[in-house]
Amino acid sequence: MTLHPKIAIFASKGFRTGGPEALHQLHYELLKHNLVSTLIPYPGTSKKVPVQEYISYEPLWGNLFDLFKADIVIISSDLTFLPYWYILFLHRKTKYIWMLAVDYSSDSEWSRHEQTKFPIHEEWHEALVETRTVRLLKTLKVVVRMRFKSLKNNFRYHLNFSYDNYLFQSNYAREIVTGFYNKKAGLMLTDYINIEKFKKIKIGEQKTKNTHLCSCSKKHVAYNPAKSTKIMDRLLDINQNTGNFLHFVAIKNLSKEQVVELLIFSDLYLDLGFFPGKDRLPREAITLSCPVLLAKRGSARYETDFSLNKKYLIDLNQTNPKSVFEIIINILSIPKSDNLKAQKAFKTMVSLEKLNFQDEVRKFVSSIQRKN
Ligand SMILES: [Zn+2]
Repeated sequence: MTLHPKIAIFASKGFRTGGPEALHQLHYELLKHNLVSTLIPYPGTSKKVPVQEYISYEPLWGNLFDLFKADIVIISSDLTFLPYWYILFLHRKTKYIWMLAVDYSSDSEWSRHEQTKFPIHEEWHEALVETRTVRLLKTLKVVVRMRFKSLKNNFRYHLNFSYDNYLFQSNYAREIVTGFYNKKAGLMLTDYINIEKFKKIKIGEQKTKNTHLCSCSKKHVAYNPAKSTKIMDRLLDINQNTGNFLHFVAIKNLSKEQVVELLIFSDLYLDLGFFPGKDRLPREAITLSCPVLLAKRGSARYETDFSLNKKYLIDLNQTNPKSVFEIIINILSIPKSDNLKAQKAFKTMVSLEKLNFQDEVRKFVSSIQRKN
């Protein structure tokens, strides 16, 4: 056992989503600075099998009971999911909160925060406004999970964090937290798209097994069905009623390799969901030379997070379903290479993320060393 302060990073074990990968990337970078870094599994994930894909980040899983008073704890913005008795383990330790997402709503279709600030076009209402029963069920879920309904309450819960102990994955998160404290706070820390990992994937090898790569002559639009489900349902309806001009392909039940193949193959990646932070899929798409079209919601409202021409950012507050469909048709009527050319700034931004991340971790490490 070592008594040197170590850095303990809370992460979900066995989950292949953006958050856990970012936390692995931070762990790996800290190791390179010769710091003692350990990943602590989130409650309920300790018995899960670690994600094979993340082995390259040299994960080292530790135990909550190994934490010492002098240790530094890093928790992602999912902090509100931690049981209250964790306070016993985290008490008097230096805590950092990494704002990988700002989404304090129980409503995944439409962030409550945005709902009041940026009211949606009324023609979407039918698809988005919930029935009373759905709302009641969601509220119950919120109570069970001890999540707080309003943005303000959430920050009150976070108040035992020193304002400069915030790390921001997006400028969106930074602006919201800064606005709350009314002073400049924390450091930027944006995870990156691991291009090396893509290079290892041999494209074409599984084509025979893949049903998502079809040879029809239509333009192919990839989308994430887990986000903006009801908005997508409306668009799929319009497509069907206007002669099935486009082929929409859901990114669902696909291996990582198949997702990569699909994005390379597609003419567009469409994401009309809410962006609680800099989501990975649009960044992966552009890295694989698939142009993107996003809803201007959450982090996508910030040019510093998604440096896209406004043509590729749809303002759902002012655009009705039919017009959104027309925008998609318009974008697909020009060659893919032209769309890519127009998104060069975004592609460059994403390609520089790894270098930026290394620089940001360096700044973080020196700020820790200054304090200790
Ligand atoms: Zn097709």
